Amino acid sequence: MVQVQKVAIIGLGLIGGSLGLALLKRGLAETVVGIPRRAETIDEALALGAITKGTLTLVDGVRNADLVFICTPIPLIIPTLNEILPHLKKGAVVTDVGSTKGWIMEEVEKLNLDGVSFFGGHPMAGKEKTGVLQAEANLFLNRPYVLVKPPKFNLLALNALKKIITGIGGKIMEIDAQSHDLAVAAISHLPIMVAASLVNAVNDMELVRNHARQLASTGFFDTTRVASGDPKLGLDIFCTNTESVLEVLAKFKQEIEVFEKALKERDEVQIVNKLAEAKKFRDEIYS
Ligand code: NAP
Repeated sequence: MVQVQKVAIIGLGLIGGSLGLALLKRGLAETVVGIPRRAETIDEALALGAITKGTLTLVDGVRNADLVFICTPIPLIIPTLNEILPHLKKGAVVTDVGSTKGWIMEEVEKLNLDGVSFFGGHPMAGKEKTGVLQAEANLFLNRPYVLVKPPKFNLLALNALKKIITGIGGKIMEIDAQSHDLAVAAISHLPIMVAASLVNAVNDMELVRNHARQLASTGFFDTTRVASGDPKLGLDIFCTNTESVLEVLAKFKQEIEVFEKALKERDEVQIVNKLAEAKKFRDEIYS
């Protein structure tokens, strides 16, 4: 059932394209206008069925939109919001999908939204490959979808957005920006750094590197999957969530040092305890 007449999606890559596909495949939006950077992306998105129209002009794309998703790289989210604000209709709802939320919500606080509602968003769904050709209608299905409310907000606007997110299969989690950023620093951002460091360590040891190509199997694949992500997205994440990443990195280093010490001292009890403690919590998370 159509929930919203006109949706504008700015940034039509993996996430923006998947939102368009999810909205149109489920009949939740009448019109989805896509606004990427390059004309080829419009053609690809139209061919996929991720949008009903495309334009390279922001102002044209967002005119009369009821709902706007900003799905650009993180540093462009606030400049984009600033640029579209004067052209949005009163009552429009804007949300973003950026992987970090603290600085975005801080910057939004400084803006005069003038009848427009903004909610921070972060779908906890994705993959290592980017671009609209990677988009999937079911990317958000049964995945957590974070929503961050500003201190003052319009409840009707929030509920309208929640209906859309639920409609595309997302499991809404409302959380404040700081808690979000610390939690994702631990479960999403630090793992990128750890995976990249592990791969680089292997690559840096000549003998290991040569054998790794033949020996590496599922364990190494699972442990390092996120190292194959887009380096530019990783940079944006680290640069906009620096304090939280450094906080969890300090904790992680302590944990590694416990292992190192136990191994040097042949403290078998400590090694087993640490592995058992980790197994228990991980099994709980994914049970
Ligand atoms: P993506 O596939 O690389 O898509 C980025 C989109 O933004 C493309 O449509 C691109 O246009 C456009 N764009 C790139 N640079 C631009 C520029 N300088 N000016 C204007 N438009 C530009 O990226 P994505 O993975 O969808 O990520 C988009 C957002 O989602 C990011 O904020 C990220 O933090 C967030 N996010 C990503 C994931 C993930 O797993 N990838 C998960 C959750 C949230 P063209 O295609 O025309 O070049």
